[in-house]
Amino acid sequence: MTVTLADIYSAAHAIAGVADHTPLVPSPYMSARIGRDFLLKLETCQPIGAFKLRGAMNAVMAQPEGTTGVTCCSTGNHGRGVAYAAARRGMRAVICMSELVPRAKVDGIRALGAEVRISGRSQDDALAESQRLCAAEGLVEISPFDDPLVIAGQGTIGLELLAARPDISTLLVPLSGGGLAAGVAVAAKAIKPDIEVIGITMARGAAMQASIAAGKPVEVQEVPSLADSLGGGIGLANKLSFPLCRALLDGIVLVSEEEIRDAMQVLFHEDRMVAEGASVVGLAAVLAGTLPPAQGPVATIVTGRNLDMAQFARIMTGQDVQLGDYLLKGKSYGA
Ligand SMILES: *Cc1c(COP(=O)(O)O)cnc(C)c1O
Repeated sequence: MTVTLADIYSAAHAIAGVADHTPLVPSPYMSARIGRDFLLKLETCQPIGAFKLRGAMNAVMAQPEGTTGVTCCSTGNHGRGVAYAAARRGMRAVICMSELVPRAKVDGIRALGAEVRISGRSQDDALAESQRLCAAEGLVEISPFDDPLVIAGQGTIGLELLAARPDISTLLVPLSGGGLAAGVAVAAKAIKPDIEVIGITMARGAAMQASIAAGKPVEVQEVPSLADSLGGGIGLANKLSFPLCRALLDGIVLVSEEEIRDAMQVLFHEDRMVAEGASVVGLAAVLAGTLPPAQGPVATIVTGRNLDMAQFARIMTGQDVQLGDYLLKGKSYGA
């Protein structure tokens, strides 16, 4: 089982008109910082405020007529995508999440008419509940990242990026379970084999990086992060996103909570954009100077905007933010 460029073209067809064609805009500030074009793919403009609608829509549309319903575990955005797609098909959706998922995300999912189950403190707990529902109630599980249809859906971002700007030489992709990075890398490298695709994730709980280093999927401790959408493991039985990321990514860069905060402030103050911590890790890595130098235009995917506005206000006004037992000290922009 794998995902090919043809699968990604099929996905583009399946999701057309619902989850496609987000804007690709330059960041004048970031471009000036690096001395060449720095482009932002604004998945914040999707109807659910995140790219995950692409994969969810592709997977839900592929279910046969008469399917009882769908279920998934989620850090928030995949659940929102599945809920949205299921509602469009008039299908039941049950979204399983842990207590770590921010309230704003849970409310957004309920508002789409899906049922919500909160269980445990980790993605693994949420996954166990989702699998129990499959057995007990005949629902079909849609993995947030380890599913060929989901990966192909996320890969449509790669098609759009290279159609708009064939000259892009580096893609900075926020990385968690790796569905996004795998799909984008399959598409981008099939179209432009010498393109560089780098996964970026937070240092606190970097499951894919630890797994690639270990040569097999490993568990990491899940802790609260500004990049809550990047939380959770890759699944010990991972079949697809792990081998694809291992084969296709040119590197993985880790960023700290402080670097994520700084990047959220830059995007807001310089480009006047509101985005989740998970979405700004590409900017964070560049601003922190941790990325290897490369030539040519750079693009990153601003993956979502579904954040807790009270926490966002604290970050923008330089106040402290408590992340579990970690205190992220406040810093005013430009200070
Ligand atoms: C899910 C998500 C990611 C990471 O995607 P994976 O396919 O799990 O690697 C990045 N950003 C946001 C906003 C997300 O919701």
